[in-house]
Amino acid sequence: SLTIGIVGLPNVGKSTLFNALTKNDVLAANYPFATIEPNIGVVGVPDPRLARLGELFGSQRILPATVDFVDIAGIVRGASEGEGLGNKFLHHIREADAICQVIRAFKDENVVHVDGKVSPKSDIETIDTELILADLGTVEKVLPRLQKEARIKKDRQPVVAAVEAAKAILEDGRTLFSAGIAQGSEQAEPLRELHLLTIKPFLYVFNVDEDELTDEAFKAEQRALVAPAEAIFLNAKLEADLAELDEDEALELLETVGQQEPGLATLARVGFDTLGLQTYLTAGPKEARAWTIPKGATAPEAAGVIHTDFQKGFIKAEVISYDDLLEAGSVTEARARGKARMEGKDYVMRDGDVVEFRFNV
Ligand code: GDP
Repeated sequence: SLTIGIVGLPNVGKSTLFNALTKNDVLAANYPFATIEPNIGVVGVPDPRLARLGELFGSQRILPATVDFVDIAGIVRGASEGEGLGNKFLHHIREADAICQVIRAFKDENVVHVDGKVSPKSDIETIDTELILADLGTVEKVLPRLQKEARIKKDRQPVVAAVEAAKAILEDGRTLFSAGIAQGSEQAEPLRELHLLTIKPFLYVFNVDEDELTDEAFKAEQRALVAPAEAIFLNAKLEADLAELDEDEALELLETVGQQEPGLATLARVGFDTLGLQTYLTAGPKEARAWTIPKGATAPEAAGVIHTDFQKGFIKAEVISYDDLLEAGSVTEARARGKARMEGKDYVMRDGDVVEFRFNV
């Protein structure tokens, strides 16, 4: 499954956040047979629709979609040249599908900042610079060989052009992601073989003081620093406390700081979206469940997530949109109202589709 790598300078609250991520333990609760790896935090993507479906169908359990976060050790200035954890760090980050930067905004004289002062802007620049330098190193290493190849093989010319364009962006001090070269896009295709870091989607977690959680002006300022990437504001210590509480106690504590849901829930939702994922829903007496698919997946591809045989033997998908199903109150009634659609193999799945697949075995 896809993973989000957590990076950041030392002492910004990564471990605190990651501990909260692992403590929430959606895996242990919902997937008892899954292996839980120590450096991976699995967080449920909150979806209130599942509980409603569960009521409607009398489901025994609710299985949300999940997002995997990987703890990648702290980055320091010079990491791109092998400083500190250097190469190991770059290796881990290369394996992640998206990059989540944790940025310190909280003020606490007892917690030393590596650069002596709290400045989200300069921290972001430090991390971006290391990733940009690592990519520049990759690009400069392969470019001469690619140029030579392209002189003989004309079909390699688009690769050279794309790599040269990427080099110009990096030399300009920008990440490829912020320059709008999205992983998976046609523009990014020729760059794929280089496994560049800054082409991955980024998201930013600002570890803020509790009073900053509701400071809209402050948040707007930080958002502007990272746009078009998403920014999430949370207090890592508070998240660690929340992870220890049951739901009612957690909601009570959240209320005292003017929040409706834990920052981790927001992080899971935004992270899921940043990875380019969406869900469809199934429901029955056994379980109400959200299944993870890439945005734009077709009905047979969606069926394949449940079982490869479902994809191979795919005949049709009976689809009712969540809203229609809830309004009708049952599948039978939704069918009677003409709200159940039979979709074929070219159907592109939509958010909120409640699905039952028909297939040959
Ligand atoms: P890491 O080096 O990025 O993994 O940072 P840690 O999670 O180890 O945190 C470094 C120090 O900052 C620890 O003493 C934490 O208790 C403290 N810390 C983490 N998050 C917060 C926060 O939100 N507010 C305050 N005041 N301290 C925090």
